[in-house]
Amino acid sequence: PFDVLIVGGGPAGAAAAVYAARKGIRVGVAAERFGGQVNDTMAIENYISVLETDGPKFAAALEAQVRHYEVDIMNLQRADKLIPAEEPGGLVQVQMANGGVLQARSVILSTGARWRNVNVPGEQEYKNKGVAYCPHCDGPLFKGKRTAVIGGGNSGVEAAIDLAGIVQHVTLVEFADQLKADAVLVSKLKSLPNVTIHVNAQTTEITGADGKVNGLKYKDRATNEEHLVPLEGVFVQIGLVPNTEFLKGTVELSRFGEIVVDAKGHTNVPGVFAAGDCTTVPYKQIVIAAGEGAKAALSAFDHLIRQPVA
Ligand code: FAD
Repeated sequence: PFDVLIVGGGPAGAAAAVYAARKGIRVGVAAERFGGQVNDTMAIENYISVLETDGPKFAAALEAQVRHYEVDIMNLQRADKLIPAEEPGGLVQVQMANGGVLQARSVILSTGARWRNVNVPGEQEYKNKGVAYCPHCDGPLFKGKRTAVIGGGNSGVEAAIDLAGIVQHVTLVEFADQLKADAVLVSKLKSLPNVTIHVNAQTTEITGADGKVNGLKYKDRATNEEHLVPLEGVFVQIGLVPNTEFLKGTVELSRFGEIVVDAKGHTNVPGVFAAGDCTTVPYKQIVIAAGEGAKAALSAFDHLIRQPVA
């Protein structure tokens, strides 16, 4: 069995692997796609000490650093089920989609999250070419330009307020007949001079030309009229879904499906830790996921050295 088995190979899992391996214990990483979300990222300009890089480069660097240590990397492996230890200090089992079962004295869950798509024409085509999901990451790329935010919940309204300070103009498009964000955010948004809000508005297409976004089409659901907003960027803010479906019923999840962790990355299951975008830790960013992964590995090590000698 592994001393530490990490499920998920994004920034959180990679950091956990490096920290655990440096303790000289047996470490494995099982990941559906090593590198995680950064594989889909273009410019990364907010990872501290790295002025600018891109996603594939960053993912390759993560893998190279993990491979530098004796870590068993099991790529293209999806976990289907977690089976907690039967007695304190016993082995935790992770059942894989390929039928295999991995055993470990401790497990770190770092399965990340995925942005919910609007699924309209243009979204996939112009991803990273004007279609974005993370205002903290990509907001500055649209400095002085016109953007839209799809989604009027808390994250959409926060994104619109954030972007309004950077870009020339923000159009917020909400499907329902009112914004669902907290009242204080809504009144802040309404006070901004360079923001237009459309409620009851169904996004129907993200248009573009020459490989770049040039507009957003929406249908006014009251009148059925189609409108086209000319712009350069669209931020989709209709939810971030944690990859934790396979943990339902075994590990405590929040109402958003995030793994509930304490300040040291403990879950409610003994010997099972979690880190990164799949957890309740706020602000889903690479630097945060990496820090949380390091923390979870140190907590797992702390757990292991406290087990009574057999
Ligand atoms: P992830 O990166 O999501 O990795 C999860 C890992 O778990 C993957 O290896 C995945 O394959 C694996 N996995 C999932 N389910 C299973 C399973 N059942 N079994 C086995 N493995 C599984 N952040 C920044 O800080 N700066 C940026 O510029 C930036 N730009 C971004 C641009 C885009 C387009 C996107 C999508 C995100 C961006 N982010 C950015 C956010 C950043 O990528 C995430 O916060 C970060 O990757 C989270 O790391 P993580 O390790 O928690 O999860």
